[in-house]
Amino acid sequence: MDNCLFCRIVSREIPSRIVYEDELVLGFCDIAPKAPVHVLVIPKTHVASLNDLGKEHEGIMAHLTLAIPQVAEKMGIKDSGYRVVVNCGKDSGQEVAHLHYHILGGRAMENNFG
Ligand code: AMP
Repeated sequence: MDNCLFCRIVSREIPSRIVYEDELVLGFCDIAPKAPVHVLVIPKTHVASLNDLGKEHEGIMAHLTLAIPQVAEKMGIKDSGYRVVVNCGKDSGQEVAHLHYHILGGRAMENNFG
């Protein structure tokens, strides 16, 4: 989508620190990290949020899920552990309307789900 920030990162119109890429998924560093490692993993295809997923996204989402431990390994946090967060909609605080999984690690997380 032309006016979507993360679609523009996928197309390299907007620069980012890419740490993982395959044919369906992109992983890049969050611009305002909340932990020593904070990577966003997104489907390259535009999906606004979890609420917009359909049967046609089944393969992409399975693929994305399998990419997460690969990203964690690459970032050196697979064994120490990490948190995966997905915001969906207004009450969650979702700011960017392109589905993204936050991968946070490199420090112990608090069990505070805000
Ligand atoms: P959310 O609140 O779940 O929608 O998260 C959006 C995330 O995107 C926030 O953690 C932002 O810091 C991050 N973000 C916004 N703009 C960029 C950008 N240009 N490059 C990387 N991360 C970004």
